[in-house]
Amino acid sequence: MEVRCHKCGRAYSSIIPPSCICGEGLEITYDYSKVDVKKWRMRNRGVWRYKELLPEVKKIVSLNEGGSPLFKAKLSKELGLEVFIKDETRNPTGSFKDRFATVAVSYGLPFAENGFIVASDGNSAASLAAYAARANKEAFVVIPRRVDKGKLIQMIAFGAKIIRYGESVDEAIPYAKELAKLNGLYDVTSASNLIGIEGQKTLAFELWEELKPTHILVPTGSGSNIYSIYKGFKELLEIGAVEEIPKLIAVQTEKCSPIASEILNIKGKKEFTKALALYVKDPLNKEKAVRAVKESGGTAVLVREEELDMGERLLTKEGVFAEYASAVVVPALLKLKEENYFEKDDKIALVITGSGLKSFYEEKERSIMTGTKLEILRLLRDKPSYGYEIWENISKPMKYQAVYQHIKELESLGLIKEAYKRGRRIYYTLTGKGARILENLEE
Ligand SMILES: [Zn+2]
Repeated sequence: MEVRCHKCGRAYSSIIPPSCICGEGLEITYDYSKVDVKKWRMRNRGVWRYKELLPEVKKIVSLNEGGSPLFKAKLSKELGLEVFIKDETRNPTGSFKDRFATVAVSYGLPFAENGFIVASDGNSAASLAAYAARANKEAFVVIPRRVDKGKLIQMIAFGAKIIRYGESVDEAIPYAKELAKLNGLYDVTSASNLIGIEGQKTLAFELWEELKPTHILVPTGSGSNIYSIYKGFKELLEIGAVEEIPKLIAVQTEKCSPIASEILNIKGKKEFTKALALYVKDPLNKEKAVRAVKESGGTAVLVREEELDMGERLLTKEGVFAEYASAVVVPALLKLKEENYFEKDDKIALVITGSGLKSFYEEKERSIMTGTKLEILRLLRDKPSYGYEIWENISKPMKYQAVYQHIKELESLGLIKEAYKRGRRIYYTLTGKGARILENLEE
C-alpha cells in the first residue's frame, strides 16, 4: 500500500488523512503489477479474500463480512431486463458498512489505545460498535438526534458510548474529529479516514467475479459507497481485469440530493428524508462521488418520498427486507426503465445496502397512534374536551379507566395538553405536534 500526494509528492503512512497538507485529496494505491486475481478464487469469500488490494494489518478483526449473496431479481422478467440484487443486508450487522469496519478497525488497532470513534447516522456506528467489541476496544459513536431505532439498539447492545450531536450527520463529523484529537481515539468516519473505503471497495471485486455488471445502482448518502465501488473497478482496470468501469448510478431522494443534483445539474434540496441514511446535507465525499459517477459514464436518479414504500414492498416480494435508504434503488430502476435508459443485454446490479430490521425510526409514533388514541386526537381536533366527554364519544365500548390511561399517555407524548379547567373538569386540546402527527397519519 502506498499513499503519496500526486501533486506535491509527500508520502503518508500510519494515520492517513483524506487530504494532503497541501490541500490535494489523497488516494491509497498498491503495486498493481503484482496482483494475481487467480489467487482470489482459491480463498474463502469475503473482504479479506482480496488482501493484496487491502492495507496490510498486524491482526485482522473480522466477523466474516462481505461475500454477500447475489441473485437474479424476479423483477427482471417483468421489466424485460437482467436485474440482480446484491444483498448487503446479509453482512454481520446487517449493512455494507461491515466491509468498512473490518478494515478500518483492523488497521486502526495500533492507533486506538483509547478506542475508536465514528460520526454516523446509523449503520457505520452499529458496525463499529460490533467490531470494536470484537477487538476489546471502546467504541464512541457520535450520532444525530434522529437515528433508526434498530441501529441504536445495536450500538447499545454492543456497548458503544453514545454521543448525540446535531440534526444530521453533517454536524457530527467535525465533532467526532475534535473528540478523536482530544481523547486519542482512532476516527474511522469515512469523511476523515481513507482506510475503510478500501474495505468497501471489495463490493466491486465481488460484483466483477460474480456478474460483470454493466450498470450498478447505488443508494447514495455520504457518497463513500459509490466512490468505493468506483475505486474497486478502477483497480480492476489497473490490473487489466476489466476494460471499462460499469456505469454507476447514484440514487438519492428528492428531499436531500446534494450529489445527485450536481450530477444532473439541477437545483437540489437538503431537507429531511425518511430514508435516514441518505440524510446527508453536505457530504464531504461529494466531489469524489460526483467524479466517480461522471467518469463511469453513469447518471443519478431522484426518488420521491412517496416511492420509498413501494421500493420496500417490491423488494420484500424478492424476499429482501431493506431499509428505505436502500429501497430507493427500485423506484430508480423503474424510472430508468421508463426512460429506456437500458439496453437488452445490460446486466444491472442493485446494491441493497442495509436491512429493514434496523430502520424503524417512525415506529414509535406510528404504532402508538392507532385505534383509540387516534380517535381521541380526532375528537380533540374538533374542540377541547374532558375525560368523561371523550369516553362517551369513543366508538369502541371500553372502561373509563382505559380511556383515561390513553389520555395520560398522549399527554406524556406531548401530543395533547391541558387547555383549561372548568370546576374539576380538565379540558384537553391538541398540541402543535399532535396536530401535525394527525395530519401526517391522515394524508
Ligand atoms: Zn500534497
